[in-house]
Amino acid sequence: MTDCCIIGGGIIGLSLARELAGRGLTVRVLAREQGRATASWAAAGIFPPAPLRPDSSPGDRLTGWSDLLHREWAKQLLEETGIDNGLQACGGLHVAAGARGLAALETEAVHWQGRGARCELLDAAGVATCEPALAGAIARGSVMAGYLLPEEMQIRPPRHLEALESSCRKRGVTIDSAEVRELVVRAGRMEHVATVSGDVRATTYCLAAGAWSGGLAEQLGLVMQTRPIRGQILLLRLPRQRLTHVINQGLEYLVPRADGRLLVGSTIEDAGFAATTTADAIARLSQVATRMLGDLPGAETEQAWAGLRPGSVDGLPCMGRAPQVDNIFISAGHFRSGLHQSTGSAVLVADLITGSRPTIDPAPFDPARPTLAPTAGAPPDSVAAYLARAAAEAAN
Ligand SMILES: Cc1cc2nc3c(=O)[nH]c(=O)nc-3n(C[C@H](O)[C@H](O)[C@H](O)COP(=O)(O)OP(=O)(O)OC[C@H]3O[C@@H](n4cnc5c(N)ncnc54)[C@H](O)[C@@H]3O)c2cc1C
Repeated sequence: MTDCCIIGGGIIGLSLARELAGRGLTVRVLAREQGRATASWAAAGIFPPAPLRPDSSPGDRLTGWSDLLHREWAKQLLEETGIDNGLQACGGLHVAAGARGLAALETEAVHWQGRGARCELLDAAGVATCEPALAGAIARGSVMAGYLLPEEMQIRPPRHLEALESSCRKRGVTIDSAEVRELVVRAGRMEHVATVSGDVRATTYCLAAGAWSGGLAEQLGLVMQTRPIRGQILLLRLPRQRLTHVINQGLEYLVPRADGRLLVGSTIEDAGFAATTTADAIARLSQVATRMLGDLPGAETEQAWAGLRPGSVDGLPCMGRAPQVDNIFISAGHFRSGLHQSTGSAVLVADLITGSRPTIDPAPFDPARPTLAPTAGAPPDSVAAYLARAAAEAAN
């Protein structure tokens, strides 16, 4: 009998599978899609600074702990699989123009300093020294000031997923292409999951199906909104890389890869389960690149894609035992930070599944917590807050 059956083969499901298999459990992953059809593959792979402090909020604690684990996992994955996931502290430069943009920049810088991150405020000349490729944007007035977060990191999501999958297989994890249709519960316990190609039984289960988790959780009597929030990305190939830092302006960003690719992101859209790109959004992302870097002679559009972030009502993922069914756990709703929070989430949920003492307090992530009830407000990091911010930026 399989010890744990994980529903979902994105970053959250695969990271948990790797962790559980490393603890000696037999693990089976059921995934309708793998690789590039997942939000995890679509992600930009930006890891903002994540200092851990005694007064960190529950979300920051999860991110900070995950950040530390990522440094260990990157080394382990390279040793186990030979795949370099590209984790590197390239630094993040956050820039702005206009009175509103500059005011927001200062507020953000104070926020980062208050959280204990290294953060250096820069005037226009400082921005140009830090990232000479932005000199043209400064001359055109598109960038007037900025701040540097030297600890900001990037990772390459497709490579990280490939490394995780390879590590899982080496640890004996079975990964099956299968769509779960029904979670079959009898007398308060999961009896099996019904897939299109047959039933699967295990001692414990974990629902890690990204944006689809909320729909499946209804079968457990659990109301857990993981509303899909679409993000589109444009990938350019430049004759030579011009940037060294991740460049952030509001919700838009440029991520330079060492091989000359430049990733331009992203949108925050409520478009249901349509993981498709739109001509308008891709044109707007193309303008973001030229606004920052001017004309890009020789640049080629390599591809564009869209992914569905699993939303969160209160800004925190849901992790823990399902309230009314004994042997199924949840790990879903990581919204904009699922790549970053994947390592800590895997260790935390593995601790809960194996009955080990968790390193961080799981209570704030309880899938049955009262803050998950729909509210009129928009807590920071929630879907509602980001949709409002995206609408405000689009109107400017
Ligand atoms: C454009 C974009 C940029 C992003 N940038 C970042 C970033 O810079 N940093 C960061 O930390 N995060 C980022 N994110 C967020 C991050 O990608 C997500 O939080 C994370 O990928 C969620 O992982 P997941 O495993 O929960 O979901 P997914 O990756 O969507 O995986 C869900 C899995 O469940 C499977 N599934 C669903 N339903 C079923 C079913 N019925 N039966 C079987 N399998 C099923 C799917 O097929 C898939 O395998 C970004 C997201 C997007 C879209």
